[in-house]
Amino acid sequence: MARKPFIAGNWKMNLNMSEALKLVATLQEKLKGLEEKHVAVAVCPPFVYLSKIAEHLLKTNPSGGPHIALGAQNMYFEKAGAFTGEVAGPMLSDVGCKYAIIGHSERRTWFAENDALIGKKVAAAYTFGLLPILCLGETLAQREQNQTMSVVKSQLEADLALLTPAQVETVTIAYEPVWAIGTGKAATPAMAQEVHQMIRATLADKYGKNVSQVVRIQYGGSVTDKNAEEIMSQPDIDGALVGGASLNSDAFTIIIKAAAKKAAGEKK
Ligand code: PEP
Repeated sequence: MARKPFIAGNWKMNLNMSEALKLVATLQEKLKGLEEKHVAVAVCPPFVYLSKIAEHLLKTNPSGGPHIALGAQNMYFEKAGAFTGEVAGPMLSDVGCKYAIIGHSERRTWFAENDALIGKKVAAAYTFGLLPILCLGETLAQREQNQTMSVVKSQLEADLALLTPAQVETVTIAYEPVWAIGTGKAATPAMAQEVHQMIRATLADKYGKNVSQVVRIQYGGSVTDKNAEEIMSQPDIDGALVGGASLNSDAFTIIIKAAAKKAAGEKK
């Protein structure tokens, strides 16, 4: 079954308000003419810019370009209450988010997020009308000790544990080797494909082949306009979660177009 590729830009803690708005407007301009049916696109700005960008997206209607959806970079699992500094799912839905990145390695590393917490966040996303982009990946030490498959498999199983099979169908998984994030050292297409294939096989074992065939699995980790096409040429790689390169409208557009080209079945 053909899966529509999905490219999401994780802006992390970057840009000021006017740069953020300009980046989105420039992207809309550059994506004109690209067919929505070939690629799904989202940007994940810092929380404080979400409503302004949502307003901008609502009032502009670029002719022919794919709709740019909004995602948050994180989300707390409680609905409301005394959780100073946190942002709840209903707030994100309220300002127009469709997606929430959950379990990014920077959250796991710097904010001590573990799989128990991430599993609750993934389930809560559905309660609040958001689609999770669940990030998984091994550290360099784990790869060097041949633990990649077992680490990613156990993250996958733990982080999806509270979902129904119908919910799993609409999860986006982002395989992001920690050693590849922001380092300029992307996984080779073959290395990434090997892990993506294992993720899909694990989903098939647990939820059935049909579910496993519709789940989108993005690769993330130093994806650029130079390597995106080759990485996404792999059969189980359904797009990319892009950090640094998503801040550059030219590079991000090239990555999105590479995904659309894969979907359109064009030759290299
Ligand atoms: C990310 O933040 O999810 C990421 C993949 O970053 P980069 O593309 O900069 O490696």
